[in-house]
This record gives sequence, structure tokens and C-alpha cells, in this order.
Amino acid sequence: MPSRQKSKLQVDLVIPVYNESEVIERTYADIRRVVDALPFEFRFIYVDDGSNDGTVDTLRGISANDGRVTLLQLSRNFGHQAALTAGMDASQGDIMISLDSDGQHPPEMIPEMIGLVQQGYDIVQAQRIENDRGASFKKITSNFFYWLINRISGTQVLQGAADFRALSRDALNGVRSMQEYHRFLRGMISWMGYKSVILPYHEPKRLAGKSKYSLGKMVRLASDAIFSFSLAPLYIGLSAGFVFFILAGVQLIYVLSLWLTGNTQRVEPGWSSLMGVLLIASGIIMILLGFIGVYVGYIFQEVKRRPIYLVKGQSPNE
Ligand code: UDP
Ligand code: MG
Repeated sequence: MPSRQKSKLQVDLVIPVYNESEVIERTYADIRRVVDALPFEFRFIYVDDGSNDGTVDTLRGISANDGRVTLLQLSRNFGHQAALTAGMDASQGDIMISLDSDGQHPPEMIPEMIGLVQQGYDIVQAQRIENDRGASFKKITSNFFYWLINRISGTQVLQGAADFRALSRDALNGVRSMQEYHRFLRGMISWMGYKSVILPYHEPKRLAGKSKYSLGKMVRLASDAIFSFSLAPLYIGLSAGFVFFILAGVQLIYVLSLWLTGNTQRVEPGWSSLMGVLLIASGIIMILLGFIGVYVGYIFQEVKRRPIYLVKGQSPNE
């Protein structure tokens, strides 16, 4: 940790917000209740991810009454990972803690997280422990996703890892040096290394409102994770291609053997088998082209060096 000429440790709380007008005041009060009792200098960095439900007005009010609160407004909805990135880029403290604004990341864990960073851990990662045994769609798909990403990528991603974590200044600088466009922060943070510790927690239900992670956003996050952390999809195509080459070789040998033994009458080229081979072959070509297309698309976006977010304003103005 950098030694500064400062009496108090500065802790920045990065809180992404998207249409959370129903809960934002309550979760702010809950966080305050915890941090006001601690002997550190706290800064709240609320990142509004293009809300259109009055969240911004509420946050402006909060910011006007509490000098520690900064509101960073993105120009549109860029998504949770981009909003977190914007907040982390704005963080200047000794420790950065990111947490959701819907009450699902218990602020009561903040003191323990800070304590662990002070003990020398660079990454304090909260891990969601499933409390009920029921199987929801989200739970099944999430379990399958973690199983898959840990099988096909070289980076291990902790099952149930939340975007609820504390980072030391060094670890934060590490994440900030990764300027990729398709961001899966859980994977990027695990990829970095550094001394880490896991803090399990039971996740409460969101205080009010609905999840802002639509099915589309979940699929996009999973695809960002899979395609930017693994080349396995390309190898599936390649392996299938090889299998079909081998099959073609076997067939060639079989037909040749029939010719050599004078059994040519048995070779009856049928329309259906021809069609079958044609369809399978073109299917494989299309799958392969699809995979290559995804990678080319990603390369294209990386090469463009497009910003990960655009800031509309900041209040109070500095
Ligand atoms: N969020 C965001 N941008 C989005 C979607 C969500 O900033 O496009 C915020 C949201 O306000 C919340 C956090 O990210 O603070 C996590 O979202 P949510 O609680 O809806 O996800 P879930 O807990 O259902 O996975
Ligand atoms: Mg939530």
C-alpha cells in the first residue's frame, strides 16, 4: 500500500446503479450506518449507468447533503461491468470496494474486508453461498456457466464470485491497466494473480425492484467471458474438422478396397447419402466460420480501442 502523508486510510466505495430509485436511499443509509462507525476516510463513488427512473435526482440529492458522495453519470446504459470500470477508474483511495446498490452485498462485511487488505491481501473476494436448495433458472445456468468456464479456460473463476470485493491500490492499478473492451471482471481479477482471500456470504434478496440483469445481459456476459478467456470454441471446430477428414479417409479406403476386389456393383451412390454428407459438411463449415467470425469481431473491437464507457458528467464538479 502506498504510504501517504495522511492520517486516515482512504477507502473508496464503487457502487454501480441502474434504475434503482426504489432502493438507493435505503442502501445508502445502510452503508452509512456501517462506515460512519469506522475510523477511515470514506468516499462513495456512485456510477449511474444511464438510469431513466429518477435514480439520478435521488443521487444528486444524496451527493448535495454528503460531501463524500460523488456521482459519475455515464451517457447511456453501458452495463454493469463498464459501470464498475468507470468507478474504479475514478477511485483514488488506498482501498477500493465495489458493491451493488440493491442491498444484496451486505455492507456489514466492509470492516472485515478492510481488515484483510490491511493484513496484506490485495484482493478480498466475496463468494455467494447458496442458502436454499431450490433450483431456479438463474442458478442452474450460473452453475453450468462456472463449470464450463473452468473447464475450457486457463483462468479459474470462483463459483459464486460476486462483483463485491476489496482491492488494494496495487490490485486496482492492475485492473486499470487492462483496457480490453469485452470485460468479465471476475475473470480479469483472477487472471491478475496477487494475494487473495475469499469471504463467503449469504446473499439476501434485493430490497425492492427487479434484477437489472436481463437474460440478454447475462448471455452477453457469459459470451464475453467465454470468448475472451478461452480459445476452446475454435478448437472444437478444428477437432470436428479433423474427425471428418479421418472419416473421409476411411470411406476412401473402403471404396478403393471395393474397386480393387472387383466389387464395384456394391458402390451405389444414393441421393440421400450425398445430401446427408453435403449438409453435415456445410454445417461444419458454417459453425467454424461462426467461431472465426466471433473472434474476428472481438479483434476488430479491441483494435479499435473504443472507450469502455463515456462520462456525461460528474457532480460535484471538481
Ligand atoms: N447494474 C448496472 N448496469 C446494468 C445492470 C445492473 O449498473 O446494466 C447494477 C445494478 O443497479 C446493481 C448491480 O449492477 O447495483 C447488479 O445488478 P442486479 O442486482 O440487477 O443483478 P443481480 O443481482 O440480479 O445479478
Ligand atoms: Mg442484485
